[in-house]
Amino acid sequence: MYYAATENEARYCRDAEVVVVGGGNSAGQAAMFLCRVAQRVRLLVRGDSLASSMSSYLSDRLEADPAITVQYGAQVVRVAGDDQLETVTIRDRAGAEETVDTCALFVMVGAVPNTGWLEGLVRLDDKGFVLTGSSVDAASPYATSCPGIFAVGDVRGGSVKRVASSVGEGSVVMSHVWAHVNAAA
Ligand SMILES: Cc1cc2nc3c(=O)[nH]c(=O)nc-3n(C[C@H](O)[C@H](O)[C@H](O)COP(=O)(O)OP(=O)(O)OC[C@H]3O[C@@H](n4cnc5c(N)ncnc54)[C@H](O)[C@@H]3O)c2cc1C
Repeated sequence: MYYAATENEARYCRDAEVVVVGGGNSAGQAAMFLCRVAQRVRLLVRGDSLASSMSSYLSDRLEADPAITVQYGAQVVRVAGDDQLETVTIRDRAGAEETVDTCALFVMVGAVPNTGWLEGLVRLDDKGFVLTGSSVDAASPYATSCPGIFAVGDVRGGSVKRVASSVGEGSVVMSHVWAHVNAAA
């Protein structure tokens, strides 16, 4: 299972069938890239359309490419293999399951913030990322609009969406939390 689709991963997919999960631009770009080496690419999309999640130039190219199959209403429910991936089981909206032989599953989802539960507590931007720092008149770049609540990493609006920066923000924020706790004491 891969979380990136670069030359490194592509060389293990030569002439094979591969599965890409996701309905956003990163999934579409991965499918276009992988179909250059793979025999067939299945793109699994949970929704009914790509219209709201992917640029139309990209979805048009995907639909037109004979090496790519876009399956809507599809979810991965099982992966199996011994010392490497061998099969992926896909469930459609009606509940029917299909098991396909594949050596590679590309997971290209996870960029949407899960912040619905924070609405009304801290200010969010129009995409649901948590606003911090100067955008909410807070002194700390990680402080939210609610004193005592901090946000770091991907969920923070304007952050660099990378592992290293998220870990870095997580370590730096502790001194800000500490200062807040001490000021309150
Ligand atoms: C497909 C893909 C490929 C990527 N490739 C790279 C790459 O090659 N290099 C790179 O540097 N970065 C990459 N990234 C970005 C990287 O994964 C993120 O920047 C990083 O994981 C962010 O770390 P985080 O701790 O902020 O958030 P996350 O890793 O998303 O962690 C947040 C955690 O909070 C949990 N959570 C969510 N809601 C709640 C809740 N209500 N209660 C409790 N827990 C909750 C989630 O389950 C998750 O475990 C990629 C991202 C994606 C989606």
